[in-house]
Amino acid sequence: MDLRSSVSLLLLLGVCSGLHGQVRTHPLNVVGSINFLIEGDILIPKKRTAMKCLKNAYSCLWSKSANGWVDIPYRLSSKYDNSEKRVIVNAMKDFEYKTCIRFIQRSTQRMYLSIEPRLGCSSTLGRTGDKQVVSLQRFGCVRRGIVQHELLHAMGFYHEHTRSDRDRYVKINWNNIKKYFVYNFDKKDTNNLGTPYDYSSVMHYGRTAFGKLGAETIIPIPDSSVPIGQRHGLSDIDIRRINRLYKC
Ligand SMILES: [Zn+2]
Repeated sequence: MDLRSSVSLLLLLGVCSGLHGQVRTHPLNVVGSINFLIEGDILIPKKRTAMKCLKNAYSCLWSKSANGWVDIPYRLSSKYDNSEKRVIVNAMKDFEYKTCIRFIQRSTQRMYLSIEPRLGCSSTLGRTGDKQVVSLQRFGCVRRGIVQHELLHAMGFYHEHTRSDRDRYVKINWNNIKKYFVYNFDKKDTNNLGTPYDYSSVMHYGRTAFGKLGAETIIPIPDSSVPIGQRHGLSDIDIRRINRLYKC
């Protein structure tokens, strides 16, 4: 049996209604593959972008304290071993060194990230107003770049290849995408924060993401040899974007 196509994921995930802090939870079926684990993935409450949510009374962004830090409370599952915890915490520290985002251990805060080893790597988009799960499965998702990728979703960022102006920078090979995953390539009405398209973003998919039999689905244009899909860590433009969105 082909392992790549045999892994089915059924994730029960909280999706925010986006209305004044009320959170509605409903099940969402996500069928995936090993690619799903490697690329990381996102649950997008359908009508939300960073820009739109800023206009609502209820914001999907994390709020800034009087001291200038944007504190994001988190709780780390005890199912991780010490070395996994270290990878996750070090990935968080990077944000603190380079931006005004600070991950703090949750005490009694109502809104926080619960980082748990569920099936696959996934996160909801932006702050949902309550406990929100960031899934980092053991043996697959506990890697610096993937941790940072999922945390960026929780901070309100989409995938780079879905941003509004992507067609000037990448060509999507629609015929090569596995049918069920086509939605992963839909363009979003994104707030690009005046930053250039970033092939080196940790939020960019790799060129064979969700491809049939490893076929290429995303081709950089005009130079198709430009590397995409790195998961080493935050790019310079990722950092600039955080600083702009959160006015660091
Ligand atoms: Zn993702």
